[in-house]
Amino acid sequence: MSLNPPLAWQGALWERLVSEYGQNRLPHALLLSGAAHIGKKHFAFAVAHRLLCHCESTLYACGTCKGCLLNEAQTHPDLAILEPNDAGKKVIGIGEVRELINVLSKTSQQGGWKVAVIAPVENLTISGANALLKTLEEPPGKILMLLVSHELGRVPATIRSRCQRYMFPLPNASEVLPWLAQNGVALDKAAQVLKVARGRPLLAADYLKESLLDRVAQFDQWVDDVASGQLSPVSAAQKCHNADALEQIDWFVQYIHRMVCLNVETCCSPENFIFYDKLHKARGWIVSGANANKQLIWEELFFDWHTLARGLAKAQSAS
Ligand SMILES: [Zn+2]
Repeated sequence: MSLNPPLAWQGALWERLVSEYGQNRLPHALLLSGAAHIGKKHFAFAVAHRLLCHCESTLYACGTCKGCLLNEAQTHPDLAILEPNDAGKKVIGIGEVRELINVLSKTSQQGGWKVAVIAPVENLTISGANALLKTLEEPPGKILMLLVSHELGRVPATIRSRCQRYMFPLPNASEVLPWLAQNGVALDKAAQVLKVARGRPLLAADYLKESLLDRVAQFDQWVDDVASGQLSPVSAAQKCHNADALEQIDWFVQYIHRMVCLNVETCCSPENFIFYDKLHKARGWIVSGANANKQLIWEELFFDWHTLARGLAKAQSAS
């Protein structure tokens, strides 16, 4: 965890925070909500590090005082962080919430703020969320809780109503592209990847690291080959089986979208929309994590796609 300032597109929200801080109007809990991969957690840590920095005159954490050095080493005793752990456990349970409350209720060891980051807050179990309510209602002393949410609808109303909301909009490409291009990436490539990442800058940055465009091209080729009969649906499903299914379903949706845009007359058929709907349903099964058999899901999708593509080819040759 390095002490980075807020991201290039977060200037307005940072100004709001600085203004509230300057007027002593900073609440005890902020709910940072918006789409995933746009930098809300980054912002939360930028706020936490600024509050725990001992330097009064800098806009961001100074990076050199004792508070900053403790944060740099990830050992600041007045910063409590709750995240799903690396072992694949997605929920944040009551035991972890109680530990956090315990840290917040003690006297600040560095004599200033005590800060908590919970990301994402929708991953709290019901009992975990309930355990947090009392601290949100009666905060013990000078504390700030930063609750990050990618899916606000999943955050209990009892928590939402006790926090001040900071909404993070999807940033404008004009603010994101120079940031994406800062490591020597060409602007047109950055724009292409940002589009594939549906405007989410941190996802686009990950994609750039992983040569995403090559992987998308490979996936599109499999879809083309299933359509033409050169690749069987079962073989295509096997190729997809071990990769990130959600990512690939997004690419399939984009493939269909491009196809419809290119051939509006023949592609605006009910069958096409039914298939589009199936892709979204498949996405839902995978997101639900209910032991979905990915191989079977992909086989069914590719069988349906092969049938649909043959029908479209016939319609196009007849028109
Ligand atoms: Zn500092």
